Amino acid sequence: MLMAEAPHCNECFIEYNCDPSESSAVHCPRAVARVLYHDGEGADMERLDAAMRVGIAVAPNGGRRTAVDHPEVPVTAAALARTAAACLEAGASMMHVHVRDSAKRHLLDVDAYREATAAIRAAVGDRLVLQVTSEALGIYAPSQQMAVIRELRPEAVSLALRELAPDAAAEDAFLRFLAELQEARVRPQFILYSPGEAARLGELVARGRLPWRDVPVLYVLGRYTAGQVSLPADLLPFLAPGMPRFAHWMACAFGRHELACVTTAGLLGGHLRVGFENNLWLPDGRVAADNAELVRGAAALLSQAGCAVADADELRSAWDAMLLQSA
Ligand SMILES: [Zn+2]
Repeated sequence: MLMAEAPHCNECFIEYNCDPSESSAVHCPRAVARVLYHDGEGADMERLDAAMRVGIAVAPNGGRRTAVDHPEVPVTAAALARTAAACLEAGASMMHVHVRDSAKRHLLDVDAYREATAAIRAAVGDRLVLQVTSEALGIYAPSQQMAVIRELRPEAVSLALRELAPDAAAEDAFLRFLAELQEARVRPQFILYSPGEAARLGELVARGRLPWRDVPVLYVLGRYTAGQVSLPADLLPFLAPGMPRFAHWMACAFGRHELACVTTAGLLGGHLRVGFENNLWLPDGRVAADNAELVRGAAALLSQAGCAVADADELRSAWDAMLLQSA
């Protein structure tokens, strides 16, 4: 029920930090509630169903783990391609890719990315959104990170706000880089390691500093908790009243409660990322056989809760609905 004076979203009628003055169909993750509460019998089943469609990304390797940690951590182009095929089959719609040098160390390199991308595309075609990382891992400077992405022009890239624009002085160069990405139709996803970073990005969006009206984000749960084991409640600060609302958000988590964490995100209107970059374990504490087992577990649990798994084209459409609107 709508409180008389409370600020609210025109679509969901809940105080969600949405701007009541504009159409929130894209902006508000709960817009579908309007159909439930106000359209009564004429409920648009397509919109209801859309709210229960959840995308699953896999982050199969990260920049640190190798076969020493688990024999199924893919570090070559061929292994990434095999992992991609298995994860697609298990229900993934996106893959977050790191590449390595010959000593299996983290690498940002145009040729290595092209080799990996070609191998993965040969295995799965366009049925996975391929997102490359721009992560520094303490090795690269922002100018180097941006130069690789500028030349590569990948389908999608993850961007860590705190690496690429650590302070206000670095913002101008970062914002110019974002304008180039928008021009080149490279799809960004902003990695947010803390609610403070989410608030900072929200402010940049609200002030129209980004070349897009809204951007996809990834909430990293429990980054600073003891032992780095995430819990579902680590999502709450990102969704608290007063926090910015991004129209498309994913969550990833560390440790054996990954599945509980990301399923919570999926049920609350978000999307999820699983994989060996952040977690090697099943909920019962056993080590997962491979990345596909983690994806399969997430797809099964979501399915039991009545959600459907979104495919790569749905993910592209959802992102493009935000990214093709200028700020
Ligand atoms: Zn990564």
